[in-house]
Amino acid sequence: MIKKISTPSYIIDKKILKRFNQRQAVFGRKLYDEKSDFYKKGMYDNSSKVISSGKEGYSHLDFARMMGSWAVYDYFHNAFSWSNLTDANSVMQKPVLEKFPAKDAEKMSEEIKKTARYYGAFQVGITRINNNWIYSKDMDDAHIEIPEECKFAIVMTVKMIGSAIITSPTYKACTATGLAYSQMAFLVSCMAEFIRNLGYTAIPMGNDTALSIPLAIDAGLGELGRNGLLITPEYGPCIRICKVFTDLELKTDKPITFGVIDFCKNCEKCVEACEADAIQTEDELSFKTACPSNRQGVLRWAVNQDKCYKFWVENGGECSNCIAACPFFTKKI
Ligand code: SF4
Ligand code: SF4
Repeated sequence: MIKKISTPSYIIDKKILKRFNQRQAVFGRKLYDEKSDFYKKGMYDNSSKVISSGKEGYSHLDFARMMGSWAVYDYFHNAFSWSNLTDANSVMQKPVLEKFPAKDAEKMSEEIKKTARYYGAFQVGITRINNNWIYSKDMDDAHIEIPEECKFAIVMTVKMIGSAIITSPTYKACTATGLAYSQMAFLVSCMAEFIRNLGYTAIPMGNDTALSIPLAIDAGLGELGRNGLLITPEYGPCIRICKVFTDLELKTDKPITFGVIDFCKNCEKCVEACEADAIQTEDELSFKTACPSNRQGVLRWAVNQDKCYKFWVENGGECSNCIAACPFFTKKI
């Protein structure tokens, strides 16, 4: 049963919790952390070897399909622009209208959600931005400051193709991941242009700029599981999260609980499915971290991201075993 709650189901230690530097995540540390086992190791470095092994699900065709799925996320940088878009393919001049009088926050939230679903969102929730979740620095080591007037986050999920995810860790499953990332880029860029055309500020983002999972929890989209992922009531962890920050005044959603933490205490399906031994087996949540890429000050089962990423490098592509195994992911479409 899904219950709305007044404060999110996670517990933080305010004395320890600090804004997290995105470069501290494994994708950042691989660039500079000489002590890590994955220094300068890319996820696709092993691809040629894996492809020539002849393993099912790792053919050249599978690899090419996976690469194609990432194209929009990886190369269409305008999708994540903080500024008004220019240099359109269309030759039509676009009018700039008067600012839309968005006086009714509840009604505007309904319009935002309707529009997000129209553009392909699976779930949409709205929350006030908690500064703790904004990265202190980005991957280029630049400070991140969100304009003070942007107080709201529109948090959206897109569904991954379940029938592909269950083939994890093959390239077919990686293709479902890439496709969802490209759909995120499509979704946030359309949402940002929608909001800009109403005369308001919009900052679209994928995994960059702010931590997606706590924002999604705050916006009432799910809870944190043992596998370190957002577990949604509708589709478990088989989703990807993107968000748009805005100065448009909106009505926020309440966080939810549907018993994920208690369920995870008695379920270790993701632990069994993880070939990297990266997921904790302890019964109880703790503030312990498992590797330098875990942020401190959050009560949870910290996933050892170092072990996880090392497996991705060996695999020649990412892994979704802990998504496929989760009992909350039931509809294998
Ligand atoms: S993604 Fe794969 S390697 Fe990483 S924690 Fe999940 S199951 Fe383990
Ligand atoms: S597989 Fe089980 S333990 Fe792991 S996140 Fe899902 S419900 Fe929790």
